[in-house]
Amino acid sequence: MTTVVTVRTVADLRSHIAKWRKAGESVALVPTMGALHEGHLSLVKLAKSKSDRVAVSIFVNPIQFGPREDFHSYPRDEAADLDKLAKAGADLVFVPDTAEMYPEGFSTHVKVSDLTDDLCGASRPNHFEGVATVVAKLLLQAAPDIAVFGEKDYQQLLVIKRLVRDLNIPVEIVGGPIVREADGLALSSRNVYLTEAQRKTAPLLHQAIEEVAADLARGEGADAAALAGRFKLEAAGFRIDYVAVRDADTLKPLSGPVKPGARVLVAAYLGKTRLLDNVAVPAKA
Ligand code: AMP
Repeated sequence: MTTVVTVRTVADLRSHIAKWRKAGESVALVPTMGALHEGHLSLVKLAKSKSDRVAVSIFVNPIQFGPREDFHSYPRDEAADLDKLAKAGADLVFVPDTAEMYPEGFSTHVKVSDLTDDLCGASRPNHFEGVATVVAKLLLQAAPDIAVFGEKDYQQLLVIKRLVRDLNIPVEIVGGPIVREADGLALSSRNVYLTEAQRKTAPLLHQAIEEVAADLARGEGADAAALAGRFKLEAAGFRIDYVAVRDADTLKPLSGPVKPGARVLVAAYLGKTRLLDNVAVPAKA
């Protein structure tokens, strides 16, 4: 079995990274909550293609979960994760516990406003504050040259780009494309929650937003196209949080005909499982 260096304290993380820095090597960080799948591993590969060393963090961040959300049941399998990361060629895995990240008396939070006002921000109050806080900490702990995040969590990616811009954190944020199952379902650690029947329905989420994006590329207005997508998903048994057509950089709502590159975003429940997906509007056919 291939193994990978695992550290659990900020001090150990910093001492390993300091050695790389001394040797003149560049460093990438890939933050995750574990339960790793090919989507996460694609980010590790992207990070490796852009830097000499890749550190991956695994931390199920309690402060980004709401009181009725799945923090306690979130899938955890550290041994399997470490094995996958060794095979993917990560150089170091940082696995802090909650006390290492949030010691007694912890009282500082980072809030990115504007971008977090709606979409996932509306239905998950405090979620992005939890994300921004933990990501700011990880970036300060590892001080990488680049940090890689998935487009799967598109709003999160923009929030993190805004965070590092606003706080002048000297790191480049790199987005990686969404990795999907053969039937189009975006890989997610939460897909294990789906029943067999729900798993069969789940790919409709991607299909529906691809259809919205194709309608938009043909010149249909944003509101009508999004509504058609919503109806399709409701008819298939999804409970919709949002189907939205937004500016790809600001996430501001768009109406009427939209330009290629606009983003179609969806969040919807199948049973208790909240699924996310998004696609770009293609160029006109
Ligand atoms: P998580 O462990 O869910 O917090 O995700 C860690 C990182 O992996 C985030 O930057 C996610 O956007 C990214 N990610 C999750 N699923 C996928 C996927 N299917 N394709 C690409 N990136 C992903």
